[in-house]
Amino acid sequence: MELTVLGASGSYASARSGPCSGYLLREGDTAIWLDCGNGSFATLQEHVDPGALSAVVITHEHPDHCVDLYGLHVMMRYGRVQDSMPVFAPERARHRLGALVSSWGQTFEWTDVYDGDAVAIGAVDLCFSRTDHPPPTFAVEATAGGRRLVYTSDTGPDWSVSAFTPAANLVLSEASYLHEHRPTPIHLSAREAGEAAWAAAAERLVLTHLWPEVDPERSAAEGSEAFGAPVAIAVPHLTLEV
Ligand SMILES: [Zn+2]
Repeated sequence: MELTVLGASGSYASARSGPCSGYLLREGDTAIWLDCGNGSFATLQEHVDPGALSAVVITHEHPDHCVDLYGLHVMMRYGRVQDSMPVFAPERARHRLGALVSSWGQTFEWTDVYDGDAVAIGAVDLCFSRTDHPPPTFAVEATAGGRRLVYTSDTGPDWSVSAFTPAANLVLSEASYLHEHRPTPIHLSAREAGEAAWAAAAERLVLTHLWPEVDPERSAAEGSEAFGAPVAIAVPHLTLEV
């Protein structure tokens, strides 16, 4: 299974981290656009033909994780004309996104996601777990070919990757802040991300969703110390074998 970062900026796009949260998950012919934050649709097109996506998965309704679904809709409805792309999203995200358009027409085939749900998208099995973040938000565990990725989406410290089976091959964790400065309790610091991944015996850790004003070198140092091994910082186009 291959993970490509399309955008990694926390909450708003930035010069350094580029677009907001978006990831491409691929296994064989299966291609999943996992979160479609603002700007990530452009990066996506550098890596895959959007019409060839197997599905879109949206973790929550905050715009930095979902608004570029609008771009895919316009392309499919008025450009190349293509129907029925599956979209898996929390019910509230479906309603919020619906306000962007007069009608989705036949563009998307929506499936509402709830805590504990499991779905198979082509060669990839997904499980969802409700995180500690104000709107309904779901972390995602993706399994394919015996390898496992856990993506935290956005969360505060009252949820952790230990909600899934331990020892994931790769944990992609939000780390919005440095531990000394956590303006809100609805996100993690790099230290909290590292500690949680260590407690869950993760094999590797990549930090993402850094607040644009946070120094990524300091986040990497703080996360590595807590995790007990070097962590990577997500940047657009970074591609990793899970
Ligand atoms: Zn976010």
